[in-house]
Amino acid sequence: MRSYDYVVIGAGSGGLASAKRAAAHGASVAIIEGGRLGGTCVNVGCVPKKVMWNAASIAEHIRMAKSYGFSLETSGLDWAHLKRTRDAYVTRLNGIYDRGLGLSGVELIEGWAKFVDPHTLDVNGEKIQAKHILIATGGRPTLPDVPGAELGITSDGFFELEEQPKHVAIVGAGYIAVEIAGVMKALGSKVTVLLRNEQLLRSFDAQLRETLMEEMAKEGIHFVTCIELDHIEKDEQGLLTLAGNEQKLSGFDCLLWAIGRTPNTDQLGLEEVGVVRDDNGFIRVNEYEDTDVPHIHAVGDVTGRIQLTPVAIAAGRKLSDRLFAGHSNAKMDYSDIATVIFSHPPIGTVGLSEAEANEEYGVEEVHVYTSTFTNMYYSMSDHKVQTCMKVVAVGEKRKIVGIHGIGMGMDEMIQGFAVALKMGATVADLNRTVAIHPTASEELVLIG
Ligand code: FAD
Ligand code: NDP
Repeated sequence: MRSYDYVVIGAGSGGLASAKRAAAHGASVAIIEGGRLGGTCVNVGCVPKKVMWNAASIAEHIRMAKSYGFSLETSGLDWAHLKRTRDAYVTRLNGIYDRGLGLSGVELIEGWAKFVDPHTLDVNGEKIQAKHILIATGGRPTLPDVPGAELGITSDGFFELEEQPKHVAIVGAGYIAVEIAGVMKALGSKVTVLLRNEQLLRSFDAQLRETLMEEMAKEGIHFVTCIELDHIEKDEQGLLTLAGNEQKLSGFDCLLWAIGRTPNTDQLGLEEVGVVRDDNGFIRVNEYEDTDVPHIHAVGDVTGRIQLTPVAIAAGRKLSDRLFAGHSNAKMDYSDIATVIFSHPPIGTVGLSEAEANEEYGVEEVHVYTSTFTNMYYSMSDHKVQTCMKVVAVGEKRKIVGIHGIGMGMDEMIQGFAVALKMGATVADLNRTVAIHPTASEELVLIG
C-alpha cells in the first residue's frame, strides 16, 4: 500500500498550494484529482471568466473609440475564435500546473478519492494511506429543484457554449450572475436577470449594489425582481419559457443558473470517518482548518467560508506550515479580505460595509466619506459611467474599517488600499498621501 505524510484530495487552488508547500517542507506528499488540474479557478472559474471579461472590456473600448476620433470597422465578435483561444490558454495552464507539480516533488494520483477509514483512501480500487489528509474538493454549481431546471446551464456550461446566445436569462444575485450578465451584454446579447429579491449583491455595501444595478439597467440589462421560477419549458423552436409567481417570460435561447455552489462532500464517505458537515454539506473546521477528526483537515470552498481562490491558497499554505514546518500557531486570517467583482463597471471592496460598521461599532462611532464622479475616460462621449467610492471609518481617530468602490479601474485599485486598511490606516493617513493626477484612485486619498 502506498503511504505518505500528507495526502491531498483535490488539485484545485487550495489543494495544490497546500501540497506544494508541504513538499517544500520535506513531507512526502500525494495529491488526488479526478478532474482537471487547477480545479474550478483555472478550468471553469476565475481564468476563463477573466478572459471573457477582457473580451467584454475590449467591446466597450471599441464602442468608445469613435468619440476619441477613431473610425473603426469591425465585423463583430467571432465567438468560436474566442472560445478556441480561451480553451487553448486553459489547456496550456493545465500543462504548466502538471509540470510545476512534478518539479515540486508532489505525486499526482488521478482518480476520485473516497475514505475507507480515517487514514486510508480508495482511488480506483487502490488504497492510499496518509498521516494527514486534506479535503480540498471545492464545489459545483447548484441547480434548483424545479421542473425543467436541466434546460438551463450553469457557469460550467457557460464555458462550453459554442455559440453566443441571443437572449440569455440569468437567475441569481451574486458574483456569477452580475459578472456573466455584464459580459454577455457588452458582447451584444440581450440579457435579463431574474432576482428572487429586489437587489443584487445583498451582502455588499448598499452604495455598490445600488450603483451597479443602475449602471447595468442603463446598459440595457433587464431586471425582473421578486420572482422565483417554478417551471421551465422549451418550445418547438428551442426557446425557453420561464414561469414563476404567476408570470411567464419567454423567448430565451439560454437560461443560466447562478444561485450559489454545492460542496463536493457527498461522495467522500465522510460519515464513516467522523468528519462533520453542516446542513448545506460544508465541512466543519476550526480556526486551524482541522475537521472533527484531528488529522483530517479541509480548506477552500468545501468549508463554505469566503469562496475565493487566494483564500483557499493562503489557508492551504498556512496549514502546511503548521503541520510540516513546526509553525504551531500558523493559521489563516479571514478578516478584511479584499475582493473584486468583475462586473461592468467593476467593484473593488475590502472590510466592513457601512451597515456592518454601524452594527458593530454603533452609528455615532461611524464616519462615512463618499465621492461620486464620472471618470475622465468618458469625457469625450455622451456615454457616461459613474464611479462611486466610499470609505468607512470609526472612532475619534477615524480608523478605516471599510473601503468600497465601483467604477473603471476599481478592480486594480483595491489591492493596494487593502494593504493600508490591513495596516490600520486612518482617514488622515489617506489625506497625507499626495495624490496621483489625473487618476480615479486619487479620489480615495482626497476623500474626507
Ligand atoms: P476547487 O478549485 O474547486 O478544486 C477542487 C478540486 O477537487 C477539483 O479539481 C475537483 O475535481 C477535485 N475533486 C472533487 N472531489 C474529488 C474527489 N473525490 N477526488 C479527487 N478530486 C476531487 N475566485 C476568485 O478569487 N476570483 C475570481 O475571479 C473568481 N471567479 C470565479 C468565477 C466562477 C465562474 C467560479 C465558479 C468561481 C470563481 N472564483 C473566483 C472562485 C474560485 O474559483 C474558488 O474559490 C476556488 O477555485 C476554490 O478552490 P478550492 O481549492 O477550494 O476548490
Ligand atoms: P453567490 O453566493 O455569490 O450568489 C448567489 C445568490 O443567488 C445568492 O446570494 C442569492 O441571492 C441568489 N439565490 C440563491 N438561491 C437562489 C434561488 N433558488 N433562486 C434565485 N436566486 C437565488 O453565488 P455565485 O453562484 O454567484 O458564486 C459562487 C461563489 O463563487 C461566490 O460567492 C464567490 O465567492 C465565488 N466567485 C468569485 C468571483 C470573484 O472573485 N470575482 C466570481 C465568481 C464567483 P439572494 O439571497 O439575494 O436572492
